[in-house]
Amino acid sequence: KIEGRGTFRIFDPAMDAHVQARRSLELDLRNAQGLGQFEVFYQPQISLSSRKVSGFEALLRWRHPIRGMVSPAEFIPLAEEIGLIVPIGEWVLREACREAAGWPAALTIAVNVSSVQFVRGSLVPAVVSALANSGLPAERLEIEITESVLLQKTDKNLDMLNQLRALGVRISMDDFGTGYSSLSYLRMFQFDKLKIDRSFIEDVTSNRDCSAIVSAILGLGTSFGIPTIAEGVETEDQLAHLTGEGCTEVQGRIFSMPIDAHEARKIIERIGV
Ligand code: C2E
Ligand code: MG
Ligand code: MG
Ligand code: MG
Repeated sequence: KIEGRGTFRIFDPAMDAHVQARRSLELDLRNAQGLGQFEVFYQPQISLSSRKVSGFEALLRWRHPIRGMVSPAEFIPLAEEIGLIVPIGEWVLREACREAAGWPAALTIAVNVSSVQFVRGSLVPAVVSALANSGLPAERLEIEITESVLLQKTDKNLDMLNQLRALGVRISMDDFGTGYSSLSYLRMFQFDKLKIDRSFIEDVTSNRDCSAIVSAILGLGTSFGIPTIAEGVETEDQLAHLTGEGCTEVQGRIFSMPIDAHEARKIIERIGV
């Protein structure tokens, strides 16, 4: 009736349930930050030349009182859709920079940033204030972007990337190889790191195509002078393969899954840097 006379809908219980579930997730998401339900986890990144931890990637976690731990893969797309990713992303930046400022100076912190933060938010001032408030030197912050940042509003976003670069912040290309035109992005911007997507690493030792793709990406890294990091490394075989092919860094279950800030500090104390 709300939609007025002459309109009608076919009632579909399955769709209704889906809409309800999404609405309730959205409502909970809107309250999550205020209720302190977000937490940043950290996954160590290991340099293959020194076999030491070179830094950590910050990965957002949502502790939902009923649903338990909700994966970012589940709520980041929704947060992007409703614009909530801007305040959430700024919180992650502040939190991760504050935590990293307490680590030894050799360690970097990588923070994932959504394309929506480029388009809708004030990303550059947010980075400037996260650095200023934490005292973290810009050189220790890496911003991870995906191709969507270069897919739309390309000129404006490139300008913002250059402003970040001018501050001293490093820029990594996440999920490299999965995009529509990964190679053309290498011409648009001088990335500081290429992150090889986990989907290629998963089968790198068992599938010829994956191994060829990974070799090609590592070759690109060498030719362009860009360090490479493989994500989702789980087995000794994968590690040996990547080491042999000249990959710069790895992260994955073989060393550690993402852990909370306290556990990260314990790792840093135990292994040294
Ligand atoms: P990503 O940035 O590509 O992060 C890598 C994902 O792989 C993480 O999933 C990590 O936990 C997982 N991973 C790492 N090593 C392994 C492994 O050995 N095996 C397996 N099976 N998985 C591994 P996670 O934490 O669920 O994050 C998923 C995605 O959500 C991230 O992909 C990133 O795109 C997004 N994300 C996470 N935190 C943030 C954030 O603060 N802001 C934004 N905009 N996106 C975020
Ligand atoms: Mg990432
Ligand atoms: Mg990735
Ligand atoms: Mg990914």
